[in-house]
Amino acid sequence: MRNDLAFALADQAPGNDNATLEVTGAMPFADVFRLAMGAEELAIRFEKFGDGRGFSLAVMLRERGYKGVLKAVGDLLPDQAGLLRRAGFDRIASDVKPASPRWKRPHFSHAYQPSPNGDEPAWRARTAAARQAKVDELNRRYADASPDEIIAVATREFTGRIATLSSFGTEAAVGLSFLARVAPETPVLFLDTGMHFAQTLDYRNQLVEKLGLQNVITLEPDARELAGADPAGKLFESDTAACCDVRKVRPLARAMVAFDALITGRKRYHGGERSDLQPFEFDGERVKVNPLAALSPKEVTAIFRTLDLPQHPMAAQGYPSIGCWPCTAPAEGDGTRDGRWAGQDRTECGIFDPSLVERAARTRSYRLI
Ligand code: SF4
Repeated sequence: MRNDLAFALADQAPGNDNATLEVTGAMPFADVFRLAMGAEELAIRFEKFGDGRGFSLAVMLRERGYKGVLKAVGDLLPDQAGLLRRAGFDRIASDVKPASPRWKRPHFSHAYQPSPNGDEPAWRARTAAARQAKVDELNRRYADASPDEIIAVATREFTGRIATLSSFGTEAAVGLSFLARVAPETPVLFLDTGMHFAQTLDYRNQLVEKLGLQNVITLEPDARELAGADPAGKLFESDTAACCDVRKVRPLARAMVAFDALITGRKRYHGGERSDLQPFEFDGERVKVNPLAALSPKEVTAIFRTLDLPQHPMAAQGYPSIGCWPCTAPAEGDGTRDGRWAGQDRTECGIFDPSLVERAARTRSYRLI
């Protein structure tokens, strides 16, 4: 007799046993993944109670983006309900155990590890509350502080766990010059998408030498991920979000495991999402430090002049913001981000979106598939 029992939180899930594909924990993940893609519902069979490979399959499928219904079938106990739910299952079809209300009863109110079903681990909730309080305090104390002072405070607060991110674009020299003066040992992360203008790479080398940057770290896409997602190198033509994901968000997510805070070069006058930037932000995962948030375009120009900073060679050609060559054009409007993803709604690549970075960090690799 099969007892088809839905979880309390997912009992609205559709089910059609005749159409459901079924796999087992013994199957290679690559085969399971291929079957799962495009399937609206997938059943994972637990052939015996002591075989937990079905849990791993579910987690790996969820981490790689499987959005369909996952059903656990086989030798299961009600005590496993909570773990099944955390592994990403929506439904249970136990064919050996009688119906029991215990399937629907939560066993634990909190979890300690992240899981595909999105339950917030207790440690993260505690850390988040402490970080938000710290950020609120820093913003109260340093709302009007200079970029130097904000960088000094941030590198003191997050010693050894802070980095900066630079595109080596038109305004990058300003933030990097402050960093080189105040905390030159701070890692400078550079996302080498493989799509930069040659002028940008030359400019990066020029700034490293001029400012004496000691710790520039180049982050590249994972070669296997890239081969899977963008074998022809033309993904930007059809799906810029996916292209930015594999070339920027994922490499950054992997690197950010080592850091609690990130210094950015964003400014309020960039507009859009950046209009209300505070010097310190907590995004739910990490602290973002925006020492240049309050600078005006005139002040940026003055800093270039005063410090005799070199300009990006394309700045004089009408490019106010420079990223990858397929997605950068000379500006036609007044905004400093104009010219990026021209003709699309897109204004940001996703690297400052904590939900994307966190999702990418949890998706370990596509190497198995
Ligand atoms: Fe791809 Fe364009 Fe994003 Fe660069 S900016 S990663 S080319 S979509």
